Amino acid sequence: ENPRRLIIVAYRLPFKIINENGQSEFQQNSGGLVSAVLSLVGNQKDAFFDEDQKIQWIGSSQNSREELDGHNLANETFEAHPVFIPDQIHENYYEGFCNNLIWPLCHYFPSLARFNDAYFYAYQTANELFFAKLAQVIMPGDVVWVQDYQLMLLPAMIRAKFPENQVGFFFHIPFPSYELFRLLPVKWRKALMDGILGADVVGFHTNDYVEYFLKAAKLVTGYGNRLHYINTGSRIVKVDSFPISIDFQKFNADYDNPAVVLTRVQAKLSLSEKIIFSVDRLDYSKGIRHRLLGFTRFLEQYPYWHGKVTLVMVVVPSRDTIEHYQNMKMEIDQTVGRINSDYGNIGWQPVIYQYRSMPYTELVGMYTASDVALITPIRDGMNLVCKEFVASRKDCQGVLILSEMAGAAAELGEALIINPLDVQDISDAILNGFQMPLEEQTKRMAAMRERIKDYDVFAWTNDFFTQMNMLELEHERLR
Ligand code: UDP
Repeated sequence: ENPRRLIIVAYRLPFKIINENGQSEFQQNSGGLVSAVLSLVGNQKDAFFDEDQKIQWIGSSQNSREELDGHNLANETFEAHPVFIPDQIHENYYEGFCNNLIWPLCHYFPSLARFNDAYFYAYQTANELFFAKLAQVIMPGDVVWVQDYQLMLLPAMIRAKFPENQVGFFFHIPFPSYELFRLLPVKWRKALMDGILGADVVGFHTNDYVEYFLKAAKLVTGYGNRLHYINTGSRIVKVDSFPISIDFQKFNADYDNPAVVLTRVQAKLSLSEKIIFSVDRLDYSKGIRHRLLGFTRFLEQYPYWHGKVTLVMVVVPSRDTIEHYQNMKMEIDQTVGRINSDYGNIGWQPVIYQYRSMPYTELVGMYTASDVALITPIRDGMNLVCKEFVASRKDCQGVLILSEMAGAAAELGEALIINPLDVQDISDAILNGFQMPLEEQTKRMAAMRERIKDYDVFAWTNDFFTQMNMLELEHERLR
């Protein structure tokens, strides 16, 4: 019998309330974190938490106070505790500090980083608002799991007021080399580092991010580490890598889902001999422009393939209130237009481009219809799309072209690994992919599938909470 509850604190709540024909209902958010937390439920939650208690989730709401009024904010899995951030603060916090500063720095785009005192002030205020909500919810014994770069100050706030509760922190984006982290003003660097080190276990996707973090921790706070344990004088913090993953079995099984089969068959019938597929959120870190340039280079170099290849490129709208993202969208529109007008003809459109999200069965339909998945981020904390592609290929065919700058590249060495800025490299990889014999495809795909199957999202959550428990035992030993 495990009496503990799990409290997740994340920027967003796991669902929102939508109104349809006068009826309001919960709509679950997709996204890696919600799927990961759902993987706990019914599977292994009882190993770590009280089976009878809902997972408490603290996050900002996409609904207004009025919209939520009178609703019991719980479904069978989650009990939601909305945080309301005033508009003015929210803009400087989320668009400002998070997405105009931390995001570009951590993705190695320092020239896009904007420094503004109001950003940092709002970041502190917002973290305090999350903390205030948490303080109303937390009970002795609860385990708190703080998520991502929007909440770096929170672990230390919890530690100061609730020293007995276990706190985990997970950073979902790349933790950069110190040369980027140090671009932050000294005071901010220190506050962020102290904030994170309030946690018992700090997790990243790859060993590289762990090494960069340990180095930054040493240079900012003076604390060294032994085997990834940092001793702060009063406490021990464990820093480790936990590569987030996906529900392998679900994607694998959905190869045979009738709706998926239908999309697959339709795509194969209506598109060219070879299909290249890509899908990502609109973001400069995703390398969408270089991908298009790589494809252009391929068409330039290999007229043989004209009329025989289609690039299906799905871009999911994101952050399009920020001007830089609007400009990027325009540039993508233009580049796609140019490729289609330069190379296309009445019978053939080289790029099919959609700027909207794609329903799940269509997505898996396209994963399984394509000959090549072309995934070329300039930086990506992990990249789940490539893992989903691999997991859905029950047929053990298809070629993954993957950027070496994606966290996932550390686990998927059998992909054709490319440098996303090198358009020639992309063009060469496309040709290699098209020419790769089936046995070779199967050999590589099987190896990658085995790895994702072994370390799926269940292993990820299990691994994180196992480390939390081990550290607790360690703390008890030291007391
Ligand atoms: N995805 C989505 N809507 C879509 C297409 C894809 O939610 O229309 C999902 C996709 O299945 C994947 C996630 O979005 O699980 C993208 O995760 P990834 O780690 O690749 O990139 P992120 O957007 O988190 O940077």
